[in-house]
Amino acid sequence: MDKVALITGATRGIGKQIALTLAKQGYNIALNYRKENEELEQTKKQIEENKVECFAVKGDVSSFEDCEQIAKQVVDKFGKIDVLVNNAGITKDMLLMRMTKEDFEQVINVNLVGTFNVTKSVINYMLKARSGRIINISSVVGISGNAGQTNYSASKAGIIGFTKSLAKEVASRNILVNAVAPGFIQTSMTDVLKDEIKEEIAKTIPLKRMGTPEDVANVVKFLASDDSSYITGQVIQVDGGMLM
Ligand code: NAD
Repeated sequence: MDKVALITGATRGIGKQIALTLAKQGYNIALNYRKENEELEQTKKQIEENKVECFAVKGDVSSFEDCEQIAKQVVDKFGKIDVLVNNAGITKDMLLMRMTKEDFEQVINVNLVGTFNVTKSVINYMLKARSGRIINISSVVGISGNAGQTNYSASKAGIIGFTKSLAKEVASRNILVNAVAPGFIQTSMTDVLKDEIKEEIAKTIPLKRMGTPEDVANVVKFLASDDSSYITGQVIQVDGGMLM
């Protein structure tokens, strides 16, 4: 395979697993990260064990200038971007009564504006190639809402609107745009919750467990593959039946 996937925020959690799963399929990986650290080195090494190239590209997705640089560096290195996975995301949970304007804006800027920034920087290359896959990581709370997450839910709902609108704009150029909406997945984002709370939430899920990064990455793998060539503008929930 001679394909290139750019994954944002890919040094740990769901992004890391997406990078590893696509590397196993033979994709060369452009791995976006924000800060150099041990996680980055380890992830890079694990990706390269699959005999593919891994190009680590630094940048903050909430900065448009950084995103233009990220896209340019990846195209300089590999000549193209076949698959973009907008995965980078943060939470700053708080009831609205106590949420600061900064906490609201920061979450929107990373999750939603970040998705715009990277996509806008990458899409011209895909338009020229007349092919591409864009997979945006939303969340079930972007559909259902969640107390304490007005900022995060708004950003993830925004990603769904963005995905559907862009899917309509670029379908004629053979660029497919879909979103994945994970439910409750075991990563450092959910590790902050107490074990009792995690157990309580797991009980409410029909499949009676939290999801794994692999559960999400396998759906991304499908959406990046030729097997999904008639699917665009969709939101695929990976939530063990949590939201129906
Ligand atoms: P995580 O915190 O482990 O990973 C998030 C990654 O994004 C980190 O590598 C972080 O460095 C990176 N990142 C954050 N801000 C960035 C920025 N400005 N620029 C570049 N990178 C940045 O969390 P995760 O659970 O792996 O989350 C991955 C995605 O999945 C997020 O978009 C998250 O909202 C979404 N999601 C997670 C869950 C869950 O239960 N864990 C559920 C639904 C959706």
